[in-house]
Amino acid sequence: MIESFHIAELASNVQAGKLSASEVAKDVISRIERHNGRLHALLHAEPDRILAQARAIDEKRARGEVLGPLAGVPVAIKDAICTEGETTTAGSKILSGYAPPYDATVIARLRGADAILTGKANMDEFAMGSSTENSGYGPTKNPWDETRTPGGSSGGSAVAVAARIALGALGSDTGGSIRQPASLTGTVGVKPTYGRVSRYGLIAFASSLDQIGPFATDIRGSARLLEVIAGHDPHDATSLNVPTASYEAACGATIKGLRIGIPEEYFADGLSDDVARSVRAALAKLESEGCVLRPIKLPHTRYAVATYYVIATAEASSNLARFDGVRYGLRAPAQSLAELYGATRDAGFGKEVKRRILLGTFVLSAGYYDAYYLRAQKMRTLIRRDFDAAFAEVDVVASPTAPTTAFRLGEKANDPLAMYLSDIYTLPASLAGVPALSVPCERGQDGLPVGLQLVAPALQESKLFTIASAIENHYAPTFPPEVR
Ligand code: GLN
Repeated sequence: MIESFHIAELASNVQAGKLSASEVAKDVISRIERHNGRLHALLHAEPDRILAQARAIDEKRARGEVLGPLAGVPVAIKDAICTEGETTTAGSKILSGYAPPYDATVIARLRGADAILTGKANMDEFAMGSSTENSGYGPTKNPWDETRTPGGSSGGSAVAVAARIALGALGSDTGGSIRQPASLTGTVGVKPTYGRVSRYGLIAFASSLDQIGPFATDIRGSARLLEVIAGHDPHDATSLNVPTASYEAACGATIKGLRIGIPEEYFADGLSDDVARSVRAALAKLESEGCVLRPIKLPHTRYAVATYYVIATAEASSNLARFDGVRYGLRAPAQSLAELYGATRDAGFGKEVKRRILLGTFVLSAGYYDAYYLRAQKMRTLIRRDFDAAFAEVDVVASPTAPTTAFRLGEKANDPLAMYLSDIYTLPASLAGVPALSVPCERGQDGLPVGLQLVAPALQESKLFTIASAIENHYAPTFPPEVR
């Protein structure tokens, strides 16, 4: 049932009383029962909670109240986002059984818009990874081919939407964790401008990069979700106090005359022919509809991976210091305080998280700070200036989202560098703080989804939705036959 709707249509039906939220909830529960065991998209889902939310929405309507813009819309939540009284682990054993005492701001906004939260989605531990294989609770599978990863770190959110267990989801994107899994699962994923969406209640990975954003089955749905969660929040000092546009109104606006920059650095070594072909075909369609394609240069792109892995690990080493066995989650048996810290962190953190804490502590340590951390900050400025220069000439930048289609489970699991390179096209926009989106284009010859990334100047998300909806007109959203 829900698989035949996108977000806006489902909400209109529930608002108009043609469909009850309880019917939606029952369908969601049956889809979870049928597909989640295999795909492992959700870590925690409680049928009683799903039904109770739906009942409350139906009662609200029965009282004659007008329902919100997400009336009855099932939305999955990345497990890094706090939900009151409901297990939230960030994919880590160190937080097993942790139930936060409050809702993140984005959660409160979803509830206020009458969404149904379907449960907590699997992810790479503390959002560190590009395949969901670093989850402390086992990997998520890609519904397009279950021997492949859905990407990461928000792989569970992406699969919940790709398999139509939910019609929308929230993820977090620090270096590509919304856009890359969206690309690999044939869903829409949006990383808003840094500061556009409140991070209050998001378990921090790298605070100067982390940003919450939506996944959806279609562009309009992603625009509606962003509209609900965006906006100033006094609880997050980095949240911007600027008006939020109507992103949904930007969908379907004219694209005539828009200038699209094509960075030559992004169509080079490591890009699969299949992905290049699909992305170029989509760009040709835009051109035929009146967009102007222009080659541009983002010359510091080649330093993005190195820069990101200094800054993100430095911030992570500091943010993860709070998991010490004293306040949250796991506590290992110990005789002394030092032993408690050591034993808890040794037992609770996985391999990749430990690797990042060590790297981050190293680049911040006396004697290395100037050589690594300070230089990385300077390079981050140069990367941002690349975008400033590009946006003086073009409205948006277009590229592949990821260099390949979905890779096999295990293929890169023991090769951190190969894994890090999956984010080569998404990291620069994160470092520059600018908004970016991944929209499905033609599937590859292997039958797997391909995403096209659009990047806009700060706070100009509307342009992303306008161009992405023009692309979507050519490639109708679809989902894998196994989950029909
Ligand atoms: N894959 C990148 C990393 O491992 C980005 C993750 C993210 O955006 N959270 O850090």
